[in-house]
Amino acid sequence: MRKTLYIIGLSFFVFSCTSQKSVKQNTSRTNKQVIQPKTTIAKANNEKQKPQITHDGGSEFFTTNIADATKNNNTISYGSIVSAKPAGYKVVKTYFPAVGQNFRQRYLILHYTALPDDKSITVLTQQEVSAHYLVNNTGDNEIYQLVDENKRAYHAGVSSWRSDKNLNDTSIGIEIVNAGFRADSTGSRVFAAFSDDQMKKVAALAKDIITRYQIPPTNVLSHSDIAPTRKQDPGPLFPWKKLYDEYQIGMWYDEATKQTFFEQAQLDFTTKYNEPSFIFLIQTTLQKFGYGVELNGAWDDTTKKTIEAFQYHFRPQKYDGVMDAETWAILQALNQKYPIK
Ligand SMILES: [Zn+2]
Repeated sequence: MRKTLYIIGLSFFVFSCTSQKSVKQNTSRTNKQVIQPKTTIAKANNEKQKPQITHDGGSEFFTTNIADATKNNNTISYGSIVSAKPAGYKVVKTYFPAVGQNFRQRYLILHYTALPDDKSITVLTQQEVSAHYLVNNTGDNEIYQLVDENKRAYHAGVSSWRSDKNLNDTSIGIEIVNAGFRADSTGSRVFAAFSDDQMKKVAALAKDIITRYQIPPTNVLSHSDIAPTRKQDPGPLFPWKKLYDEYQIGMWYDEATKQTFFEQAQLDFTTKYNEPSFIFLIQTTLQKFGYGVELNGAWDDTTKKTIEAFQYHFRPQKYDGVMDAETWAILQALNQKYPIK
């Protein structure tokens, strides 16, 4: 009896909280679960007929998509299946998977280790810092998983992008074995290249993660994008354009749009370069695009480092942190292509 009452209550809840569309989505599941229609429940409420609920077979909670597959929020999961195991009770995850849920994994953040292979493994497994995956540089076909995708890895640190903060909570982190940079005789940073084999691994891994969690291009980022004052990785030699062109991974601008903005920018770029209102506009545009920059109308250190991070990602031929007409045009072209929804 207690179970029957529970089912009545739950049936009401299901019908009162879901739109027609959601109910329709439920019917698309492979193993059918049938909840009695409203009329039957109404009758049951009058004690004319006992409520019935059938769930023959049901669907596996964690591997079946019960929501709209064209939306980002759905319940497809290929990760670990974690459930409670309360003593004396059975937790059933087959009958009532909720439409109202989404993935924790909304970002993909790429890093370099700035260490060789063996030291990268030691640091990422034995110390506080970690990542979900480590892409080695040994030329084999292995990729190491260090942290379950459903758990947080400690790779992003203090970070932000658009309205999100502390991206460890919402991201998958990939560390790539790479030497990072050294300073040359003039103090400029000289970065180490990534091998083709490594990039193929990174591309295959990133594509797999992005597809499974439907991570939008705007959320596939460098560590330096989300922590520009602290980080440079994976640096200007990381082939973001190649990943975009060949694997449709991440963001890139359209050349023609950039060219239009470049021609406009050139007209009075030098004359207004130090005007606070122009600096403010650039800071606003950086912030709109995603960077956590302060709007103060000054070429301060934070703004310069943010421009440098932007250049590492989108203008790798020049990464001195100085805004020029080309960088400004690229930023505007990207903003137009990837507006905040
Ligand atoms: Zn990093």
